[in-house]
Amino acid sequence: MKRVPKTPTTKGPAQMFTGDVHFDVIAAGEAPSRLRVNTVRFAPGAHTAWHRHANGQTLHVTDGVGYVQARGGELITMHPGDTVHTPPGEWHWHGASPTDFMVHLAMWESLAEGQDGPETEWGEHLAEGEYPV
Ligand code: MN
Repeated sequence: MKRVPKTPTTKGPAQMFTGDVHFDVIAAGEAPSRLRVNTVRFAPGAHTAWHRHANGQTLHVTDGVGYVQARGGELITMHPGDTVHTPPGEWHWHGASPTDFMVHLAMWESLAEGQDGPETEWGEHLAEGEYPV
């Protein structure tokens, strides 16, 4: 057993996020573990670009009001306690509502040995009108 040192909070890069987004790495398991858990904090209006995860992702909201939407899917509003799973390869975005902060845990698995990458593929930023205002 070991205590895992806190890693510095990291600002979400502008290529991947719109607005003010910060994340903390909570768990990054050493092989054979492929566990990945981040806390992600979105300021009002902040959100990801379109992206997809090779092994899917589970989001669990701990604070605020947020949105998640799959490409071509309905807009899902998320509140504290809500959990949403995006399956492997599904294009989607997530973020805060225009008027509220949103904090979620993001949980996923890194690539398996021999699995082709990337772990997360990033696409374009949301187009005009794709983010609900
Ligand atoms: Mn995602």
